[in-house]
Amino acid sequence: MSRIEPHRRVWGLVPAGGQGERFGGETPKQFTPIAGRPLLAWTIERLLSSGLTGLTVALPEAWLPSRADILPGDDRVSWVPGGATRQQSVAACLRMCPADAELVLVHDGARPAVAVEDLLATIDAVGQGDGAILGRPVADTLKRVDNGRVESTVDRKHLFRAETPQVFRPAILEQALRQALADGFVGTDEASIVERLPGVSIQAVATTRPNPKLTQPDDLRWVRMLLEQQGES
Ligand code: C5P
Repeated sequence: MSRIEPHRRVWGLVPAGGQGERFGGETPKQFTPIAGRPLLAWTIERLLSSGLTGLTVALPEAWLPSRADILPGDDRVSWVPGGATRQQSVAACLRMCPADAELVLVHDGARPAVAVEDLLATIDAVGQGDGAILGRPVADTLKRVDNGRVESTVDRKHLFRAETPQVFRPAILEQALRQALADGFVGTDEASIVERLPGVSIQAVATTRPNPKLTQPDDLRWVRMLLEQQGES
């Protein structure tokens, strides 16, 4: 399988600092056991297998002492306490990025089944631009709904569902996070923060491979099945 060329120096930023409220339960979703290991361990291993130089994981502060149970010592992996929002967790990870990294790759801790081919394609798509994100065109018809009442249909032609990885030049992401903080802007992904800077160019990379984010308890069966299948292939 192909890997990131080592001279490119791509550093991973893994926000896994949330409490997973939609998932419910005592344990945040990123620690849900799958085949005897926490989901987050699967995500980290998948990222490292692509040839990242290293990565930084943001954990809920109370979970930091358990990091050795998540993944036994690996000097490519560093850990930081997460922030109040996803964006603050990403900012905390970015502070650990080595100065010589060409690119940073943000990937949700709760998306363990991403294909290495998609990680590589997203990195390649940055080209001479500022960033690239993985996602897929919208297949369903979209409605604008207010209080349960359909108001109109939204043209889906130019719409794209953003996933992770999202890859950026480190200085651009740092500038975007600083600007968002100054403006009080909170985005639901990193591209929404970077897009606010004037003149930036972010490529959208469409995939057809599954890359689910564990969000609801029902997602678990699907994520587990994918990891089992990928382990066999
Ligand atoms: O809430 P959502 O599913 O969008 O979260 C995506 C990722 O961001 C999860 O892996 C979650 O743990 C992480 N996150 C974080 N810090 C927060 C909130 C979410 O690292 N404060």
